[in-house]
Amino acid sequence: MNILLTGATGFIGQSLLRSLPLDEHRVFALVRKIDNRLDTKITQLTLDTLPKLNEQIDVFINLAGENIASQPWSNGRKKALYESRVTLTNSIRSALQVPPSLVISMSAVGFYGVTRDGIYDENTPPAPGFAHELCNAWESAANAFNSNDTRVVIYRLGVVLGKGGALEKMRLPFKLGAGGPIAGGDQWFAWIHIDDVVKVILTAIDNEAYRGTYNLVAPQTITQAHFAKAYAASLGRPAVLPTPKWLMKLIFGEMSSLLTEGPQIIPKHLVDQGFAFQHKTIEQALDHINW
Ligand code: NDP
Repeated sequence: MNILLTGATGFIGQSLLRSLPLDEHRVFALVRKIDNRLDTKITQLTLDTLPKLNEQIDVFINLAGENIASQPWSNGRKKALYESRVTLTNSIRSALQVPPSLVISMSAVGFYGVTRDGIYDENTPPAPGFAHELCNAWESAANAFNSNDTRVVIYRLGVVLGKGGALEKMRLPFKLGAGGPIAGGDQWFAWIHIDDVVKVILTAIDNEAYRGTYNLVAPQTITQAHFAKAYAASLGRPAVLPTPKWLMKLIFGEMSSLLTEGPQIIPKHLVDQGFAFQHKTIEQALDHINW
């Protein structure tokens, strides 16, 4: 199978590549610049060279995107977040001579917007806000591939937990005992173990019943305070230092809503489809990551 992958150098891309048999599949990584860290069996392409590709792509796995939580959301940053997802996805669709038979594209639970209220499955109407607008536009760009010849799968990710990613940023403050409830801690914290992210991407390749939009979150819903307590405990540290909402807003501006808000999100579509999660509780997931 010929697989085109964006975001190959990222946290999820690297984890996925460790599980993709490179002798079985031919992987083409769309990169911004040639990256020597990628396996030499992977063919690296840029947006300029993609239209000249003489191979037909069977599966397009779309992971690219500027990091949503690394900088406050200035207008310039919002543009970069949008272009690295929406514009890039549209450009790839235009560049491919023949549409792939499968598109697997990421989105985020930010799709549901800034709120603490309600239980959200894939069909619950979202609340407004920049995160919703961004995810909605990104999903629309991926759904534009949808046709009789192309199956589209969209995963709305919660915070992905593994060695790297979000835990890498949280690890030091929690190790120093500075992790604790944020903005009261009773907002919901949607999470998923990296192994389940990789597993569900590989499942969608093999199983044609996977199509449409899925909340990619663990079946156990927890509050941010529960997460803080569990992560601190896994590091053998206390989780007592509360961070008020106003301070988060002062430091991070509009972006603080990623941590200070959060509705309860359930993986209804995955459960209905019988997906077997490998890591169902936060304690077990963090124990497995052990980092
Ligand atoms: P990372 O930040 O680790 O990696 C992002 C990847 O996107 C890198 O490979 C980066 O390449 C690439 N990229 C960024 N901007 C561009 C661009 N303009 N053109 C081409 N490639 C670009 O992200 P993750 O692996 O953690 O996440 C993958 C996707 O899933 C992201 O879009 C993210 O928003 C989404 N997601 C992730 C969550 C998480 O907790 N990890 C939660 C919710 C959603 P380069 O090497 O050039 O920087």
